[in-house]
Amino acid sequence: MNAEIIAVGSELLTPQRMDTNSLFITDQLNVLGIEVTMKTIVGDDRSQLTSVIAAAVKRSDVVVLTGGLGPTEDDVTRDAVGAAMGLGQTYSNEVEAQILARFQRAGRKMAENNKRQAMVLDTAEVLPNERGTAPALWIDYDGRSVMLLPGPPNEMKPLFVGQCIPKLKAKMPPLVIRTRFYRVAGMGESDVDQLIAPVYTKYANPVTTILAAPSDIQLHLRARCAEAEEAERLLAEVGGPIEELLGDRIYSRNGDPLEAAVGNLMRARQVTLAVAESCTGGMLAERITGIAGSSDYFVGGFLTYTNAMKSLLLGVDAELIEKHTAVSEQVAVAMAQGAREKTGANFALSVTGYAGPGGGTEENPVGTVFIGIAHAAGAQAKRFKFFGDRMRMRQMATQTALDLLRRHLG
Ligand code: ATP
Repeated sequence: MNAEIIAVGSELLTPQRMDTNSLFITDQLNVLGIEVTMKTIVGDDRSQLTSVIAAAVKRSDVVVLTGGLGPTEDDVTRDAVGAAMGLGQTYSNEVEAQILARFQRAGRKMAENNKRQAMVLDTAEVLPNERGTAPALWIDYDGRSVMLLPGPPNEMKPLFVGQCIPKLKAKMPPLVIRTRFYRVAGMGESDVDQLIAPVYTKYANPVTTILAAPSDIQLHLRARCAEAEEAERLLAEVGGPIEELLGDRIYSRNGDPLEAAVGNLMRARQVTLAVAESCTGGMLAERITGIAGSSDYFVGGFLTYTNAMKSLLLGVDAELIEKHTAVSEQVAVAMAQGAREKTGANFALSVTGYAGPGGGTEENPVGTVFIGIAHAAGAQAKRFKFFGDRMRMRQMATQTALDLLRRHLG
């Protein structure tokens, strides 16, 4: 079964608004085993929308429209569906009463144009909208399912999950979906793919998807079978060798980000952490403290951007900085040691580097970052060379620092 999503609204064609509804709908449909094969965004233009809908109902089993059900003249979805599918509209007193009741509950007077929302397409089933005035409509058309949903996400989501998904489910052959999820640090997307492609490309089921962020690769395996046991067997058949190939580069099997996985390890080991940051400007501490309960293990951090602050707050010897520069292995080690000594934490991480676009030296160009770690057994720092823009380098640096700590805790 394939689905197509049509997001309606001229505002979605401006730089200010994004079509996020279709992401949510896609996720829900995928869980049912329905693939989305096409998405379109159309402005509030009756004739363009009509032609998009006419094509959609020819090629897709499921057509989901969101937006354009409001009371104003530029809300054209109902009319366009009617024109594309040859359906008339009838005024529903029952829907009008529901809209009126909603206004009364809110202590507001219903405007005359809200009556437009009581027009129902022939053969359509009205799906009541608890959170807004525009009801959703469901149409069985030529063996296909077409649904018209309001645009506001807080109205669309409960309608889609509560009313459309059960109706779609009833139409699907019995199918069980089982998934596996891995997150991998310390490898790029192409390296991961090269390593595991010989395994997953042999299988159309489960479907393997790779999503990449800076130094953070997510692998999704999704198996669809008539029986749960068969789905689990297939996942093990593909997931087992992938796990073996990636080894301890897999840091999460439940979707947790690296800062949460590392946090869990610290909590389990009952150790504490401090950070000393330069080029990441607090991003490392921000990630760590973004996890609820991080006060169990995170004691605090130092944001030491200038050489003077590195000396003042972390006690890094000014002569050491003079001799090796602030972006050096020696200074990264001294920063981590300083953070550990000043706070009494079990572990300390440090980051110092050139995030660019300016700066850097011949020996250590832009993208060079030293990451240090201090612990009871000593302190070390490693040199890394990252690529990309300033934001990406900073993300790579924080990810690499967290992964360094994870490996020490492992
Ligand atoms: P209303 O009764 O509020 O007019 P509607 O069904 O006509 O509902 P629209 O007017 O198209 O919906 O959209 C209302 C608001 O909902 C938009 O301003 C936008 O913020 C949000 N919205 C609409 N479509 C989407 C979408 N595809 N993704 C995310 N938000 C959306």
